[in-house]
Amino acid sequence: MSEIFKGNFTQQEPLPEASLAAAQEVLGHGRLHRYNLTPGEAGEVALLEQEFAAFTGASYCLATASGGSAIGVALRAVGVQPGDAVLTNAFTLAPVPGAIAALGARSIFVEVTEDLVIDQDDLAAKLGQAQVLLLSHMRGHICDMDRLMALCDAAGVTVVEDCAHTMGATWKGVPSGRHGAVACYSTQTYKHLNSGEGGLLITNDEDIAARAVLLSGSYMLYERHLAAPGPEVFERHRMEVPNISGRMDNLRAAILRPQLADLPRQIARWNERYSVVEEGLRGTPGLQIVARGEGEAFVGSSIQVLLPGWRPEAVQEVLARCAKRGVELKWFGGATPVGFTSRYAHWEYAAPEALPRTDAVLAGLIDMRLPLTFSLEDCALIARIIRAEVGAVYQAKTASAG
Ligand SMILES: *Cc1c(COP(=O)(O)O)cnc(C)c1O
Repeated sequence: MSEIFKGNFTQQEPLPEASLAAAQEVLGHGRLHRYNLTPGEAGEVALLEQEFAAFTGASYCLATASGGSAIGVALRAVGVQPGDAVLTNAFTLAPVPGAIAALGARSIFVEVTEDLVIDQDDLAAKLGQAQVLLLSHMRGHICDMDRLMALCDAAGVTVVEDCAHTMGATWKGVPSGRHGAVACYSTQTYKHLNSGEGGLLITNDEDIAARAVLLSGSYMLYERHLAAPGPEVFERHRMEVPNISGRMDNLRAAILRPQLADLPRQIARWNERYSVVEEGLRGTPGLQIVARGEGEAFVGSSIQVLLPGWRPEAVQEVLARCAKRGVELKWFGGATPVGFTSRYAHWEYAAPEALPRTDAVLAGLIDMRLPLTFSLEDCALIARIIRAEVGAVYQAKTASAG
């Protein structure tokens, strides 16, 4: 009799008690707008910004309404104009090309490698075509950042980092998001902190920071920020930067602050789960574990494996067989997007050019979330199920191929 998994791949943990208490307090006084403060009160959003700046070691931080809005603000703050080209990964999620499109700018997609990071040879060949790279650390895979920054610096290309999946990760000890000019994070329910919706942006550049605050909709109340530059920096930008309203509110910041304090412990728990699944899958014939870079300390909130060279029907059979046993796998090789699994060829508004190397990788790319509601036993069971079903389909496939 085959084992069945009964857990839910989209169920996160309840929020900590401290978040409930903090939310209660904000709801009790009713000052939800970030700038609605009593004399001497800092406000939950300003405190969150201060704490996230300290967590990453950045000089400045801005909280926003979503991860996508943080990216939009970042692109505008570094000077992207309508019609400009922006380089970005071909393997990422839809809000990334979406943020570029929202500005009226154009995406130029860069190939991805089998390690699921940006292909730096393809990047080097395309650097002359744009002034900005929106680098997405998709699914938490971090490329060789020394090489990437050297290439971009030499070409005068500004790097904006999308750290939606690398909050709390590091590369050679440097927090992810501290290499480029500015970095963006998401606090949407499926990321590493959960406020339903929300985003954070960090930078060490005072002009980018001031423009970002003004763009987010500060109503000239920027002196109420605790992780922003001084008023003299705002003086340089205040009349020139539009308000595109994308602020965070005190309720969401209140529930995020206790979660941020607890993030290191949660990261350790994610990585335990990741290791159990990875070990359980290692050595499965026909299945390739995605390698992790040497300098990378990642957050294992999801896992990716490749079924390299598999026919689409065989991949689909694995998915169907696993689904029957309660294991929900996502596939980035489908002809049409299902849920969040869209890939570059589906973003027709961005008029993507064909990227054969990326197509070959995504055709065999399987993705699975690892919510913290899974126990380590759950993770071992999930790995056994995937291993068995991949094995069954692979055997049939090689048998029929003769
Ligand atoms: C979630 C996510 C974002 C930001 O998304 P929001 O839903 O707007 O918070 C950006 N990039 C990637 C890769 C993401 O997964």
